[in-house]
Amino acid sequence: MNIGRDCFGCNACEQLCPKKCITFEYDSEGFLYPQVDKNLCIECSVCISRCPAVKEVERGINPKVFAAKYNDPDSVFNSTSGGIFIPLALNVLKKGGVVFGCAYDDELKARHIAVESEKELCRLQGSKYVQSDTRGIYSKVKDALENDRYVLFSGTGCQCAGLKTFLKKDYKKLLISDIVCHGVPSPKLFEKYIEYMGKKLGGKLTEYNFRSKEKQGWDLYYKAKNAKKSKSDYGFFDPYYNAFLTGKTYRECCYKCNFANAERAGDITLADYWGIQKMHPDFYDKNGVSLVLINSEKGIKAWDEISGSIKAVPSTIEKASVMNGNLVAPSERPDCRDSIYEGMNGDFDLYVKTKLSFKINPKTKIKKMIPKSLKDKVLKIIRK
Ligand SMILES: Cc1cc2nc3c(=O)[nH]c(=O)nc-3n(C[C@H](O)[C@H](O)[C@H](O)COP(=O)(O)OP(=O)(O)OC[C@H]3O[C@@H](n4cnc5c(N)ncnc54)[C@H](O)[C@@H]3O)c2cc1C
Repeated sequence: MNIGRDCFGCNACEQLCPKKCITFEYDSEGFLYPQVDKNLCIECSVCISRCPAVKEVERGINPKVFAAKYNDPDSVFNSTSGGIFIPLALNVLKKGGVVFGCAYDDELKARHIAVESEKELCRLQGSKYVQSDTRGIYSKVKDALENDRYVLFSGTGCQCAGLKTFLKKDYKKLLISDIVCHGVPSPKLFEKYIEYMGKKLGGKLTEYNFRSKEKQGWDLYYKAKNAKKSKSDYGFFDPYYNAFLTGKTYRECCYKCNFANAERAGDITLADYWGIQKMHPDFYDKNGVSLVLINSEKGIKAWDEISGSIKAVPSTIEKASVMNGNLVAPSERPDCRDSIYEGMNGDFDLYVKTKLSFKINPKTKIKKMIPKSLKDKVLKIIRK
C-alpha cells in the first residue's frame, strides 16, 4: 500500500488491517502517515480498497441550507459558531447513545474521544485548528453501533469519509456530522507551539481556545491560559494561527480536498455562517451563527428532532459560500508550503521568527482595537 501524500491520515487502514501490520508514525512535518510492516503484510489490499482517498463514499447532494443558532446562549458562547453541534449531541445522549468528536487531552493534544454524558460534552465544543488523532476511534464507533446504540460522529469531511469506508455499510442509528474545513496543520507543530506559548506566559498551558468569544464575541480570537496568566488576541496576530488562516501549514492532501464543496460526506454539515450580516441581517447574533447543511434523510430526521431547541432561517449555498470559500473549493497551496516545516524540529523560537513571521496591516490593527459591540451598532445604523 502506498498512496503517499494523498493520505488523509484518517487511520481507517490501521483499524481495518487483518494482520495488524499497519501503524501510524509521525513524518518530519509532524503529520501521521501509515507504515506497513512488510514482513507481516499478506497483500490482501483491504487497506487500499477501503482507503477514502481511493474509494468514493456516498455523498449528499442539493442540501437544505439554514442559518441557525442554539437557544442556550451560554452553550453558544462556548461553541465556535451558533452551537448547533450541542443539541445534535444531546439528542443522541438522550437516547442512550454515544457522541464521538475531537477533544483536547491533558497535554492539549487534539484527539477523537467518545462522550457518554452531558457533563463531558463541553470537551468536544470548540474548533481545534490542528489535525485530530483518530487512532482506534472507528473501531469504537463500530462497537457502539453493533451494540445497537445511537451514535453521533463529528469530524472533518475526510474523517467522516474514513468512517464510512471503515464501516462499509450504513447503520440506521448512526448520524454523521461533518464540518466545513480550511485544512489541518500538523499535530507536532501545534504541540511545539503550545510549549512555546506556555514559556511565553511563564508556565505550561492548561487551556487553549481558538475561538474564544470573551473579548470580541464571534470572531477569530484565541485565548491561551496557564495556572497564573491568560492571553487573548486576534488570530492573525499570532504566528501559529496566522499560518493556519493563511493556509501555509496544511497537510498536503488538504490543498486538493475532495470534500471542499457542497457534496458532503456527513448527514449534517456545520460551519460558521460568515457573511450573515449581509445575507440574513435580522438573524445576526454577536455570539455566533452556524451554517447548517442537511444532506440526507437521516439529517432531516435529526434536524426535526432538535427543532424545538434551535432557531433557524432557510438560506442557500450561493449565499452561504460568498464568505465561506471552502464550501466551493479547497484552500490554495502557497509556494511557501514547500519549506514551511523546515526547521520546526530545531530551535522553535528561531523557527517561529524565520518561518512563521508575518506582517500586521496597521489598518487591521486599528480596526481590531475597536470593540465589536461598537462596530455592530455602527453597522446597524448604516443598514437603516
Ligand atoms: C480544522 C478546522 C477548520 C475549519 N474550517 C472552517 C471553514 O473554513 N469555514 C467554516 O465555516 N467553518 C470551519 N470550521 C468549522 C467551524 O469552526 C465550527 O466547527 C462549526 O461552525 C461548528 O460549530 P458549532 O458551534 O456547531 O460547534 P463546535 O462547538 O465548534 O463543535 C463542533 C465539532 O467540531 C469538531 N472538531 C473540533 N475540532 C476538530 C478537529 N480538529 N478535527 C475534527 N473535528 C473537530 C468537534 O468534534 C465538535 O464536535 C473548521 C473547523 C476545524 C476544526
